[in-house]
Amino acid sequence: MIIPEQPTETAPAAKGSSFLSVQDLKVSFATEDGIVRAVNGLSFDLEKGRTLGIVGESGSGKSVTNLTILGLHNPRTTTVEGQILLDGQELVTASDKELAKLRGSKMSMVFQDALAALSPYYTVGRQIAEPYMKHTGASKKEARDRAIEMLTKVGIPQPQTRVDDYPHQFSGGMRQRAMIAMALVNDPELLIADEPTTALDVTVQAQILDLLKDLQQETGTSIIFITHDLGVIANIADDVLVMYAGRCVERGTMAEVLDSSQHPYGWGLLRSIPHMNADVDKPLMPIPGTPPSLLNPPSGCAFHPRCEFRDKVGGDRCVTELPRLELANGHLSACHLTPQQKQDIFAQQIQPQLG
Ligand code: SF4
Repeated sequence: MIIPEQPTETAPAAKGSSFLSVQDLKVSFATEDGIVRAVNGLSFDLEKGRTLGIVGESGSGKSVTNLTILGLHNPRTTTVEGQILLDGQELVTASDKELAKLRGSKMSMVFQDALAALSPYYTVGRQIAEPYMKHTGASKKEARDRAIEMLTKVGIPQPQTRVDDYPHQFSGGMRQRAMIAMALVNDPELLIADEPTTALDVTVQAQILDLLKDLQQETGTSIIFITHDLGVIANIADDVLVMYAGRCVERGTMAEVLDSSQHPYGWGLLRSIPHMNADVDKPLMPIPGTPPSLLNPPSGCAFHPRCEFRDKVGGDRCVTELPRLELANGHLSACHLTPQQKQDIFAQQIQPQLG
């Protein structure tokens, strides 16, 4: 089926001083099978010192968005349109040299797999010290002292000796802490954390989240936290942006989305995570179906093949018409259900299932 070009969603900018402003971002890749539209008209703002959670299944465009902000996409195969302003500086048109200067100083990233991100050939201390020397011109001795200071900050025991260890000598949780130390060594104003706790057990996961929260309070860094699991960011994010098939389908404060999500995909995410007061014997409800291919996404609302509520919208609107991001019951959502329908379904069907 040929899918007609669909209009870009519109979304009002957040209030307050925006440190990072992403406006109508579109990212596509040329592949042998055709054009993959990974991000399609995404807009959001992030204020200083706040944490934005970007949530969605794999292939929703969340990681591509953040690699594009960092300028880590392949410019030969990727087309980027729209605007990304970091503290007023345009990143979409910035040169590789300008982006490299910003990475590791003004913005940095923590990846999911610390073992893959850290080099096995260099000590942990050297890997923390090098970006510090590069961006500040510090001496080897000063950079080593800074590495020890950062290891102390992220809670590595005996940092004076562990600084000379290699990554394989650290546990999984310690490696993740070391990567956070590396990412924060130059006091970046923006930290992008891409599924930083996915590979860790629940206790270590909670420790890493607490660490990020504490460090943010100390430094005022803005954080984008990417995850497929809404539950992970429930205690750390101020705001949340839910992505599906390269678009934002819901955006609000964390409390708004947790307490009154206004989108069937958001409801699916909420039902698939354990809740504090829920009956422990009650099974979690995974979202049926699989995320769509971005080579040939479904027409209209991309969620329609998986949506159990599309019959409540008149005619075939869900299949033919792209829902725009609009205010409904206090925050933004992109769904053809009326605000009253959303409120009623959430209160009567979804909330009782959450416990
Ligand atoms: Fe479901 Fe239709 Fe809303 Fe999409 S627009 S989420 S298909 S009800």
